[in-house]
Amino acid sequence: MVVKAYGAPAAHEPLAPLNITRRSVGAHDVQIDILFCGICHSDLHQARGEWAGTLYPCVPGHEIVGRVAAVGNHVTNHKPGDLVGVGCIVDSCKDCDECADGFENYCDNMIGTYNGPTPDAPGHTLGGYSQEIVVHERYVLKISHPEDQLAAVAPLLCAGITTYSPLRHWQVGPGKKVGVVGIGGLGHMGIKLAHAMGAHVVAFTTSESKRDAALELGADEVVVSRNADEMAAHAASFDFILNTVAAPHDLDAFLALLKRDGTMTLVGAPATPHPSPNVFNFIMRRRSLAGSMIGGIPETQEMLDFCAEHGITADIEMIRAQDIEPAYERMLKGDIKYRFVMDIATM
Ligand code: NAP
Ligand code: ZN
Repeated sequence: MVVKAYGAPAAHEPLAPLNITRRSVGAHDVQIDILFCGICHSDLHQARGEWAGTLYPCVPGHEIVGRVAAVGNHVTNHKPGDLVGVGCIVDSCKDCDECADGFENYCDNMIGTYNGPTPDAPGHTLGGYSQEIVVHERYVLKISHPEDQLAAVAPLLCAGITTYSPLRHWQVGPGKKVGVVGIGGLGHMGIKLAHAMGAHVVAFTTSESKRDAALELGADEVVVSRNADEMAAHAASFDFILNTVAAPHDLDAFLALLKRDGTMTLVGAPATPHPSPNVFNFIMRRRSLAGSMIGGIPETQEMLDFCAEHGITADIEMIRAQDIEPAYERMLKGDIKYRFVMDIATM
């Protein structure tokens, strides 16, 4: 099936309309009419070749929501008409310890929704800036939010799970003081989720203009991280800090805010390394620095259900497909509250 898509023909070329081919529906496959796709900063890193190994043409998009159009003979969990989502994973080995434990995100053979190896044309996976996608049923998530919230659910498929998974793993909840660094697509979800989990949430931003907005998202306090006095007031006080910043920066400034045994987890994936942190910031209070990548399929479903139960969606700005390049430019300036979502009907 040939469908319309938007993608980058090469690293230094703007995204443009393309025709792509989707495979026919196999026994375990679900074909989805894509309705909306969130715009993640990873899409920009990948399309522009900022991370090594982008394959072109590159069709980004891993915050996919839509309606099931058809299912294969052996599919039991989804049926035509269902509202569903697809995140960053479209396949994995299904056999290793990670897959058995529901951590497909850490499977050595995890296949990303775009730029992953596939026998399908053109030899690498193509993402959600497109009209249709065909995905193995295991990687298709159920959406129970009201249908009129569907566009604002899309960003949960990456920004939501990438923040939910570490917040759960590091047991964020009542009585815990939690920092969220960077109030972008991921960060604004981190604030909403940590607040819903019952933590005391402090938002860190470089943007003075986001101070009031962060409180509306559910932060209990906001710190403008360029202000040394504001930072010093929180020294050695955090149980956990979730760092979502998309660019290299001084990690020591945040490590110093962790109390004994505190952890800072990096989810931001800048194109070039952070300056190396000072070892004394670890040994002085037995602090840890960690990382986390998206989340597994079972916990992605758990996150969607948690969000439906707590009335949580992303704060979005809808764009037409043809406006993807200006949207990327605004994302680079931090000029977005807080996630662009592409209306696939405009393609
Ligand atoms: P985003 O919407 O662009 O948000 C990033 C935020 O970081 C900005 O809004 C900004 O917040 C802050 N920031 C501070 N200094 C910055 C600078 N010099 N350049 C850019 N941002 C700066 O991006 P996102 O979609 O949330 O993604 C954030 C990062 O996470 C990206 O690197 C992305 O590739 C990565 N990511 C990782 C995973 C994973 O599995 N680990 C999954 C998805 C995305 P303030 O204005 O508040 O300072
Ligand atoms: Zn993403």
